[in-house]
Amino acid sequence: MDAILKGLTESQVQAVTHIDGPLLILAGPGSGKTRVVTHRIAYMIAQGVSPSQIAAVTFTNKAADEMRNRVGELAPGKPVWMGTFHRFCAQLLRRYAPLAGLSENYSIYDSSDSKQAMKRAIQAAEVSISHTSPEQIASTISNAKNRLVTPEMMASGSSRTGDVVAAKVYPIYQQQLLTANAVDFDDLLFHVAIMLRNNPELRSDLDARFRYILVDEYQDTNLAQYAIVRGLSIDNANLAVTGDPDQSIYGWRGADLNNILDFEKDYPAVKTVRLEQNYRSTPNILRVADQLIRHNRQRKQKDLYTHNQEGDAVVLRIFEDGYQEADGIADEITNAIRAEGMRPRDFAILCRMNALTRSLEHSMRSRGLPYQIINGVEFYQRKEIKDLLAYLHLINNPSHDVAFHRVVNVPTRGIGAKTIERLRRYADVNQVPMLEAARNVYQVEGIAKRSATFVTRFVEIYDRLSKKASATLEDLLRYLVEETKYEAFLEKSTVDQQDSSAIANVDEFISAAVEFDRQHPEDGTLEAFLEQVALVADTDAFEDSDDRVTLMTLHAAKGLEFPCVYIVGVEQGLLPHSRSMDTDAGFEEERRLFFVGITRAMQRLQLSICKRRTVRGDTRPAVPSPFLNELPLDELRKVESVVDRDWFDEDPDADNQYPESWDLADESDDIVMNGDTGNGDTGNGDAGEVHETAAPFFDEACQLPESELAEIVQ
Ligand code: ATP
Ligand code: MG
Repeated sequence: MDAILKGLTESQVQAVTHIDGPLLILAGPGSGKTRVVTHRIAYMIAQGVSPSQIAAVTFTNKAADEMRNRVGELAPGKPVWMGTFHRFCAQLLRRYAPLAGLSENYSIYDSSDSKQAMKRAIQAAEVSISHTSPEQIASTISNAKNRLVTPEMMASGSSRTGDVVAAKVYPIYQQQLLTANAVDFDDLLFHVAIMLRNNPELRSDLDARFRYILVDEYQDTNLAQYAIVRGLSIDNANLAVTGDPDQSIYGWRGADLNNILDFEKDYPAVKTVRLEQNYRSTPNILRVADQLIRHNRQRKQKDLYTHNQEGDAVVLRIFEDGYQEADGIADEITNAIRAEGMRPRDFAILCRMNALTRSLEHSMRSRGLPYQIINGVEFYQRKEIKDLLAYLHLINNPSHDVAFHRVVNVPTRGIGAKTIERLRRYADVNQVPMLEAARNVYQVEGIAKRSATFVTRFVEIYDRLSKKASATLEDLLRYLVEETKYEAFLEKSTVDQQDSSAIANVDEFISAAVEFDRQHPEDGTLEAFLEQVALVADTDAFEDSDDRVTLMTLHAAKGLEFPCVYIVGVEQGLLPHSRSMDTDAGFEEERRLFFVGITRAMQRLQLSICKRRTVRGDTRPAVPSPFLNELPLDELRKVESVVDRDWFDEDPDADNQYPESWDLADESDDIVMNGDTGNGDTGNGDAGEVHETAAPFFDEACQLPESELAEIVQ
């Protein structure tokens, strides 16, 4: 017990030792919220609460893993359910699938599967999309699900043109998913929330089963997530949530800040604990973070103090372009490792979009710096992996129409688009899965005999594979590759494209299967494997023990901490992202995202901007982020290669002024472009090369076009 409470502050102890009744921990970054959650779980177990009655919900698998390790140290051998909302719901849904019209081997569509399904639903709905787009419809439906709006509700209540179209597509999309015995990501939450609402007995059983629920990062819950935890905490209102409204960064996914702001109203008996001491960062870093976030209007001021020692000033560094930025950062990290005994794992480079990591990767590779990109999803998005996964999906769930589409003619076996279209029509009319239509190919109108033979051959291959469904995953996968002649198919396309990575990827996939078999000697079903793959979040590849520099997006960095943090591309259009600048709410959310990034840093923080930025091969002048103007500029150490002395002079009226205060076009005449550092702010001998060109940087308040930024990572 001592070990559990030792070293905690008084307020932390208050939170940790509160067992029964609702609890709200409201505090800024680095104040120990997550630490309190883990210690509280250990404390409850020590007090005799059964581990099986506790569920701890997090936003990333990485956060859950970390929590599991920490609780494991404090209360060894006591398995507590920990995982993401999606995993929690996936497991409940597996158990109660029929209540949602599914069977228990249902599949989870990933985003590209959902996209395919959406296209098909739009076609089947026969709506005109001239005033909207498939993406718009998908996003309207996704938002509806996050707000627990059913197809019927949407049909009766919508008015805007886009909504009318979406309202027509929504029921068809849902019906197609059900026919395919599949769900999309939003459905995991949606089905469970609706299930709890419609089945009071089940709700109260589960309420009793999960007597104690803890939710970290509660500020990012959407209505569906809210309804789920609320539904499970009625008879046993032992719901503990932690959160920081200033770190709410998932508004675009329907997160509703009111969930945390209204918590005290929902649970009047709540005990609220505020933590004010920051253990993570130097005062320098905290001051920068605080100054920034003060510019948000939709917030309550919180004061954070720290006893940590004053550290290095936060650096603002200006580079010519992204390549120099990448080289500069890689050099600095290399030097710090050589000269100061730091480790690669002490460094994280954060960016708004994945697209920015490419040049950083290149620079690190050329210096032999080990790094990892936190984007586990990517591996599973590769074509060859998606093909094999689709076979596995279809074996697991014969109704998985998207998987059927993907593999019916891969490797090529003479089944053309027309044949597939006819099968699809047959499937739609008869409301049967595509595979069923393929089995009945001789009854499908308009399919030539020859094509029908090919279809039948595919069904035969499928049936042989299905017989192996309960083999180990490794055996199944090897058999699959052989039986479908997939490798030969890859070899041929490898020669065509002169790229051998596909075969290496297949090998890597087989290794993943071997590893899965090893980790799950008892329960290593195909279904469990597919669920694991489907729920891989983009933070999953993160291995703490790996001594590597971490490259990740600001979103993925939530909840983590690193001794040295670089935030790259603090530029208009990137941060704030161009898509978020139209509304005050969007703009404030970008500011919170920047705040989250800054507060990941423990000892050192560098923000960088470039004068030119190349995104997807297109080079444009870049404009500094308006957020920079909001930082305590006299505290930042500026390192510039081409220097303008006036740039960051504080504007007394700058408060609450956004891009206007950076309307540099009007000031360009005054700009010193000859490398005169003037105020000596770069007095660290690191001013870099001096250029005399008038940088296009200042010419216009240019914004990278939307299309360039499509690859936003969220
Ligand atoms: P965020 O809002 O960023 O998620 P948080 O409030 O969850 O932050 P934690 O990650 O729990 O903060 O804690 C930040 C750091 O401070 C961690 O390294 C943690 O171990 C340390 N810490 C928290 N409380 C204490 C304490 N009482 N004594 C020593 N270290 C502490
Ligand atoms: Mg935390």
